[in-house]
Amino acid sequence: MNTAYDAVALYSGGLDSILAVKVVEEQGLRVKCLHCVSPFFGKPSLAPHWRDIYGLDIAVLDVSEAFVRMLTARPAYGFGKVLNPCVDCKILMLRQARVQMNRYGASFIISGEVLGQRPMSQRRDSLNAIRRDAAVRDVLLRPLSAQLLDPTPMELSGLVDRRRLHDIAGRGRKKQMALAEYFRLAEIPTPAGGCRLAERENARRYWPVLRHAPHPTAAEFRLADTGRQYWAGEHWLSVGRNSRDNDALLRCAFPEDAVFDLPDFPGPLAVGRQFVDWEPAVLRDAAAFTASFAPKAVRAGREVTVRVTRGSPRGELLCECAVLPDRDTPLGWGISSWSEVREKIRTEAGDAAQSDEG
Ligand code: SF4
Repeated sequence: MNTAYDAVALYSGGLDSILAVKVVEEQGLRVKCLHCVSPFFGKPSLAPHWRDIYGLDIAVLDVSEAFVRMLTARPAYGFGKVLNPCVDCKILMLRQARVQMNRYGASFIISGEVLGQRPMSQRRDSLNAIRRDAAVRDVLLRPLSAQLLDPTPMELSGLVDRRRLHDIAGRGRKKQMALAEYFRLAEIPTPAGGCRLAERENARRYWPVLRHAPHPTAAEFRLADTGRQYWAGEHWLSVGRNSRDNDALLRCAFPEDAVFDLPDFPGPLAVGRQFVDWEPAVLRDAAAFTASFAPKAVRAGREVTVRVTRGSPRGELLCECAVLPDRDTPLGWGISSWSEVREKIRTEAGDAAQSDEG
């Protein structure tokens, strides 16, 4: 493996991460940027563009499965305002970066974190906890706030010149904008955003997966991101809103899933994730519900045929049912509102605290 790198950097594509790398590169050090991706964040398709406009050396690092394992086990530091486990996320990424540091023969890790910029993950105590829990105490450099933090071994040894690092703190962007101008950045990324876990609508989609999927994987969250989402107890149904969704749902379907299709009418395709095989009555209920999203089937005013197959419309036929399209079936398909999800997260966190105390 290449040993020409001095450092690896957590590179989100945000302004802080670009500047943190530029500040270190300016000292003549060579940096490999790691762009972490998962179903929840990351824009790997932009990596070539970033290489072109910023002249950065970027590798895409898929952290999906480790991230989903952390979510499933629940983040030790809890969730932020929505379903964003920011402190645990930083710890996880830094752990992954440490592995990559060794792989690239680098001797330290760069992070664009700024002291006091975010309420949950960038307070001084959080920054210290992140550094400790990720086991990167001796190798983590935060160039943008370094002069406000204790000197690191890289500064003490002279590998990095502390005087050329920065003292940026807080939520303002003035100093970052000045640095962006200094480095003549061709594009200034807009602030933050881009993490699906921080958006309520997505949290509504993801939470039931975390609650009900026996062993969630990244693939489950990709399915949760697609089409309309409905749950009836532990039964999960994803319904396409248009032909693009239908195609995407088929790409997400597992071979054992139940695929619902109306052969005689244009309209949705639906995927039922079978953690265990669904009872015939459940398949029939979901078939009637799926048919209710096909306007022409509803207007027909009679029973319509829904084919249920395994894995794809060409898969094993599980049943072919004649059903009346019905949005209000006995199983009561639905999805929790954000306030209901928030309440469940709080209850779960409370239960965990009580059992910790016990
Ligand atoms: S907003 Fe999302 S990507 Fe950013 S630190 Fe939090 S969990 Fe991680």
